[in-house]
Amino acid sequence: MLTTISGYDRIGEENAFAVLARANKLAAEGRDVINLGIGQPDFQTPEHIVEAAVKALRDGHHGYTPAPGIPALREAIAADIEMRSGLATSPEHVLVVPGGKVTMFMAIQMFGEPGVEILYPDPGFPIYRSMIEFTGATPIPLPIREENGFAFAPQDVEERLSPRTRLVIVNSPANPTGGVTPPDDVRRLAAILAARPDVAVMSDEIYGRMTYDGLQHLSLASFPELRDQLILLDGFSKTYAMTGWRLGWSLWPASLYDKARKLAVNAWSCVNAPAQFAGIAALTGPQDASEAMVRAFDDRRTAVVEALNALPGITCATPKGAFYAFPNIKETGWKAKPLADALLQETGVALIGGPDFGILGEGYVRVSYAAAKERILEAVGRIDGFLRECAAA
Ligand code: PLP
Repeated sequence: MLTTISGYDRIGEENAFAVLARANKLAAEGRDVINLGIGQPDFQTPEHIVEAAVKALRDGHHGYTPAPGIPALREAIAADIEMRSGLATSPEHVLVVPGGKVTMFMAIQMFGEPGVEILYPDPGFPIYRSMIEFTGATPIPLPIREENGFAFAPQDVEERLSPRTRLVIVNSPANPTGGVTPPDDVRRLAAILAARPDVAVMSDEIYGRMTYDGLQHLSLASFPELRDQLILLDGFSKTYAMTGWRLGWSLWPASLYDKARKLAVNAWSCVNAPAQFAGIAALTGPQDASEAMVRAFDDRRTAVVEALNALPGITCATPKGAFYAFPNIKETGWKAKPLADALLQETGVALIGGPDFGILGEGYVRVSYAAAKERILEAVGRIDGFLRECAAA
């Protein structure tokens, strides 16, 4: 009998991958499945980015790179952060990582242990809570409410900070809700956190370039007073349709950088070289493909929200960012996970039940509108038919 550390009794998962596997299985059996479950753009990685990776391999870049990333990529990332936040950023504090997720893994590992508290959004990306539980730290949910436009509320953070708090995790634009925290609330949050210099903050801004209705994403990197506390999580997966490339980055406070770098050396040595060359092309090359992608999401967003609001028992707030809608299904009489299961089984539409993102996700489902508009509308039509049949039965 082998005995592992107790964290493995508590570690969770990301149900979107299980739903993807079930959806793929049904599709392999010949069912017409519409997958609105997984959070990845349905576009191709832009051609010039792919070419940069191919060229890198042909040029012989097949070996190890420096563990924190190749210097030109770290410079391009620092320049990008500086351009978008206005804050002077040194490449020396940038770490290239194999996917955005890795930054949360590292940050939570760095601060989590029994007896400490970590604040995280609920509903939110499921790995935050899973990793907090893994470390033995106490997860303290920050409620993300529909009444507040699914933005996080600074006073919720303030009320939950305790002497035991070591890390606060925030995410805007948000998964699974599409909520975007307004700039004034980001400023209030920055002031609250700056008053607690013993608390680290990990700001997950992986959807930072995906906002709509002229709304601007205000990065926590814009606040010099947070520089010694802030871990910025960002990456290429969503903006450049590169989920499978496994390429992300983080910006660390000077005092933490070397710890993060050492963890990287211990775990993966370096991110694969051609992907890093692709990353340089992504950041320094033309942005039109990625901007066109956001315009397509915007168009689908309007269509899916309108279609969902026409369904019996469903209301859907208009998401302000990312590519998720988070309709309220409470009036259908269904619990969210049984509804998601039944919809996949009966109609071939894959969605994720809100409770997969936290306790406060009950009463909602996540609809990823990263699919062709006709398919999204076809899916909503199937849901409509299903709900009306259930009501008639
Ligand atoms: N953060 C959020 C909020 C996400 O939704 C995701 C992916 O779905 C990630 C981080 C992870 O991104 P990556 O695929 O680059 O690891």
